[in-house]
Amino acid sequence: RKPLIETVNLKKYFNTPFGLLHAVDDINLSIDKGKTLGVVGESGCGKSTLGRTILRLLPLTDGQVLFDGENILGYDKEKMRLMRQKMQMIFQDPYASLNPRKTVFQIIAEPLIVNRIYGSRNEINDRVLFLMETVGLAERFINSYSHELDGGRRQRIGIARALSMSPQFIVCDEPVSALDVSIQAQILNLLMDLQERLGLTYMFITHDLAVVKHISDEIAVLYVGQCVEKAPSKELFRNP
Ligand code: ADP
Ligand code: ADP
Repeated sequence: RKPLIETVNLKKYFNTPFGLLHAVDDINLSIDKGKTLGVVGESGCGKSTLGRTILRLLPLTDGQVLFDGENILGYDKEKMRLMRQKMQMIFQDPYASLNPRKTVFQIIAEPLIVNRIYGSRNEINDRVLFLMETVGLAERFINSYSHELDGGRRQRIGIARALSMSPQFIVCDEPVSALDVSIQAQILNLLMDLQERLGLTYMFITHDLAVVKHISDEIAVLYVGQCVEKAPSKELFRNP
């Protein structure tokens, strides 16, 4: 057993006009390398906040996040920058999360340019084409604007962008919930394919039990910020 991600008594509180809101309230979980932890629970139970806090998109209130056994709270700026590249997020709504004024090339290339991974335009172009092929997006769309493409293709752009920095861990936040049912299976299959090919570790957030059963090795059930049940997928859904 080799956990890539662990949380220890993780807490994330929000200050609200009605007092402190315990959005993530003492969560202990671990995700082994190459595995998927499904996170389920009703709307508002803290799933997104948990994912964002682990990725350090939100500052935590208390507790620890361990990456490959190391407490990332102690990281300096440079180490944190590199760490951020290893952890990515795929969002529910590819319509909202992709900039409509940017082309497919610009969206996928942006992390590569910002992080100064490649020197020349040609190298970046090759990398973008490779990523498009990896997620099954035809080359002819490279200069299309994201809003010109359908939901499934947009989600492929989001996945290609998330893969651009060769991450190890990806938080998938309801990645198929906004898609037509006919497209959902394609995107789920793509995510499972990529996991196998690239050895990715996933936290898969969803409210859809059929989806989570299909994709998860282990499942955590949240209720008002707390983990009320955690079990291997097979046990949680065992036949009587
Ligand atoms: P879920 O993803 O399970 O729907 P969220 O993590 O989005 O739940 O939200 C958990 C709780 O935290 C909700 O009550 C939500 O309203 C609250 N919340 C989320 N983000 C913020 C914020 N930035 N400020 C205040 N409250 C927030
Ligand atoms: P999700 O559950 O997918 O995060 P929401 O609509 O609950 O979607 O939240 C959208 C954004 O608004 C998130 O960044 C979340 O942190 C923030 N948010 C959610 N609830 C609140 C709240 N009560 N106050 C402030 N921000 C919030």
